Amino acid sequence: MLTSMGDVMREAHKRGWITTRDGNISLRREDKFYITPSGVRKYLIHPEHIVKYYVDDFDDTLMGRNEGTPSGELEMHRLLQTTADFEGCRAVVHLHPTYIIAAIHRGFDLQKLAADFPEVSRYTKVGPTVPVLPVISKELAIATHEVMTDIFSSSLEYDIVGQAGHGVCAIGKSPWDAFEHIERLEHICQIVLASGVNP
Ligand SMILES: [Zn+2]
Repeated sequence: MLTSMGDVMREAHKRGWITTRDGNISLRREDKFYITPSGVRKYLIHPEHIVKYYVDDFDDTLMGRNEGTPSGELEMHRLLQTTADFEGCRAVVHLHPTYIIAAIHRGFDLQKLAADFPEVSRYTKVGPTVPVLPVISKELAIATHEVMTDIFSSSLEYDIVGQAGHGVCAIGKSPWDAFEHIERLEHICQIVLASGVNP
């Protein structure tokens, strides 16, 4: 599964959904947490580059030797990987898919868009969009976690949310599972923008 973190990055780069050093992925399996490194060319990521932690010791303790620095979006991943309903295995994927960001910028509400397209709404729950916030900020981490989760149960409520002027955050059982949520939403955003309809 660590290999698929790099594979998803390569696919995202190939599709133009990230520039060379953008995007980040985390994976949690039981009490272990894995995240892509910061500042590395994302199409070169392999399991040996992944930064590893124990979930109950995020501050310092790394598992074994870690050469890399974790993604600057570590806090966003940490919050999304430690919700009350975590079970077994979870992947969080953050990318910058072109048409989703364009649709948000144009003024489309992603939740309303998804409701019009059964190919998305059947498989992917789209949450409210996070407003424009500084990249790798605590505010972005907290806001993304807030819209992704139920306020009362602190459990995950959605599979994907947009982040205005920036990207998306998607969650699945594996990196490819999360990637598929992004792919589905990206596809309908491309269709809607191509159709010329206005928000
Ligand atoms: Zn980003």
